[in-house]
Parts: sequence; structure tokens; C-alpha cells
Amino acid sequence: MNCAPLIRDIYSAFSNRRHLGDDEIVHCEYDARWGGKLPGPCRECREVVDYFKGKSNRRLAARKLRGISFGLFKLAPQAFLFWLPSFLAAAVRDPREADMVLESLEFRFRPPQSSAEARWQKTRLPLLSVRQIDVVIRCFRYLHAQGHMDVPTISSIIEVLNNEAAKRSSNKRIERTRKTRRSS
Ligand SMILES: [Zn+2]
Repeated sequence: MNCAPLIRDIYSAFSNRRHLGDDEIVHCEYDARWGGKLPGPCRECREVVDYFKGKSNRRLAARKLRGISFGLFKLAPQAFLFWLPSFLAAAVRDPREADMVLESLEFRFRPPQSSAEARWQKTRLPLLSVRQIDVVIRCFRYLHAQGHMDVPTISSIIEVLNNEAAKRSSNKRIERTRKTRRSS
């Protein structure tokens, strides 16, 4: 299967996302800036900052992303949205090399298994547009079709993402009802 059209769609769905600057890559809870006691980010977060600072989100090698894939959890909400397409594209382009990238993606989108995971999803998933959710689902479906994900995993992830998308459309419905009322 040719993955080029999917990769194009990933980048196009996320093309409205901007990198807010190297100070906004992580919001480390140990950093005094974010209410912690350290004068800067913790060691893990620093590793993430060192890797992503000054980087665009295009053509990051699966081989490199593999080593920093835990960073998906550490990235601050807007930084997550900016680099998510890099992780998705690496997994789709090179699933074998990006095995740990795929695992990290699964962990982020599966039903939360701890309060930290639940908190993470609550602060990131609502930022995704329906179009972005759709492209994330297509990536997982593609990886499943290629034999890289089992049925229970893909099913539970798609449920999380569909629930998230459903919230958007009910919000839109409420918004529309309000507008209709105002104009009538
Ligand atoms: Zn940290």
C-alpha cells in the first residue's frame, strides 16, 4: 500500500499548527516556571527540549524519533499538536523502525489507564479538530491493516477518538442552535 497520500493528509490536517518557541516545548511540573521546585525542567523533559528545539515537524527520521518517543507524553499541549504529525508520519512511513513510536502513540490514544494518562488526554485531545482526529484514526487503521496493531488495541483507540469527535459535533450543534435562536 502506498502511504504517500496519507502522509500528505497528515501534514495538511495539522498545517495550521505553529511552533510556539523553545520555551513552550515542555511544561515540566518540576520546573519553578510551572509550579515546581527545580530551576529548570527535569532530566527527561530536558532531553525532549534538547531534541525538539529549533526543529520543524517535517521529515524527522523514525530512527531518531524512536529514541525520544516518550516525549509524546512530555510535550506541552501546543507542542504536542505541532509534532504529532511527525510521529504519525514516522509510524506510517516506517512502522518497523518506528516500533516504539507506534507504541507511544497507542499509549497516548488508548483508554487512559492512570490518572496521569486521563489528565494528559483531557488537556490534549480537546485541542484536536474533527479533521485531525479523522487523520489520526486513518493512521491507526492503516497500521492495523499493515499488521502492526491487534484488533483490541485499534478498537479501543478508535472508540476514544470517536468519542472525542462526537463531543465536537454536539458542541457545534449547541452553537448552531444558539445562533438560530439569536437570528430568529
Ligand atoms: Zn519534567
